[in-house]
Amino acid sequence: MRAFYAAETARHDPHHFTLRGRVVANEDRPERADRLLDGLARVGLRAEAPPAAPRTALGEVHSPRYLAFLEGAAGEWAQLEGASAEVIANAQPRLARATYPSGIVGRAGWHLADMASPIGPHTYAAAVRAVDTALAAADAVADGAARAYALCRPPGHHAGRETAGGHCFLNNAAAAAATLARRGARPAILDIDVHHGNGTQSIFYARGDVLTVSVHADPARFYPWFWGHAHEGGVGEGEGANLNLPLPLGTDDAAWLEAIAVALDRVAAFGADTLVLSLGLDVHASDPLGGMSVTTEGIARAGERVATARLPTVVVQEGGYLSDALGDNLAAFLGGLAGGPIPSATP
Ligand code: ZN
Repeated sequence: MRAFYAAETARHDPHHFTLRGRVVANEDRPERADRLLDGLARVGLRAEAPPAAPRTALGEVHSPRYLAFLEGAAGEWAQLEGASAEVIANAQPRLARATYPSGIVGRAGWHLADMASPIGPHTYAAAVRAVDTALAAADAVADGAARAYALCRPPGHHAGRETAGGHCFLNNAAAAAATLARRGARPAILDIDVHHGNGTQSIFYARGDVLTVSVHADPARFYPWFWGHAHEGGVGEGEGANLNLPLPLGTDDAAWLEAIAVALDRVAAFGADTLVLSLGLDVHASDPLGGMSVTTEGIARAGERVATARLPTVVVQEGGYLSDALGDNLAAFLGGLAGGPIPSATP
């Protein structure tokens, strides 16, 4: 298995986060990557620096005006009198037929879906390098590797075509899947982060050539609140190509693993020839943002179960926040994946 990580993404160090009305420290801290790298080392993997991908890859899953906003936001914001250190929306459009604004405060409201995604001076560059990381892993698999792991920070699965949210700015897994599809594969994205992958779902919701499946805590009582329900099945050509498997808060290993088995049955029925696995380690019982009671042993079993799909697999890091178990959990998943059946064919 090859692994990729761009060390300069550590310069993205967000601070603002609103949790149940309180302003608290942002959980996407650079130290996460250090602990994940420790986890990689424990299974004998050393991360390679990914090459810079062509910027056109970003345009496959994000709109031009959103990319322009992200690139320039921190600089424009800093010119506002009395501005905060990070770009944070204070007004967001709620009505249809809203007009796309020209000023930075309006555009921040248009593109920032919540209070968990402040843009600092290094955010755009880090988000681009996180996409590079996912694309390097996707290319490795498209070129014949059985499995590759992308240590992406910031994560990506809450980022939509033109919205940031939930610590995410650019959608790493979606970019990987779009690249694989363009290269002739029939990819499925399986998202096992504790939070629903609403950005990924929205990007592919009307596409029938990429299956999206998410196993997550029920949004009736958990972020991202508005998406992730079982009735969301896709539209148009994408009808039937989206599956949500919401689970109760506090779900344990057995129920979580059973849902992953159901998800993998759907991946097989779709006829996927490549898997993009959005790996959120925030399912663990000790995660500070977690909503489930999954154990490290359960995460290892999930790796084994994913291996039973026998598909070339791109593992993309999503959530999983600072806890003593973070590195152990990555090692457990990758160890389980590596110990399972080897993919039988590459696309
Ligand atoms: Zn998450």
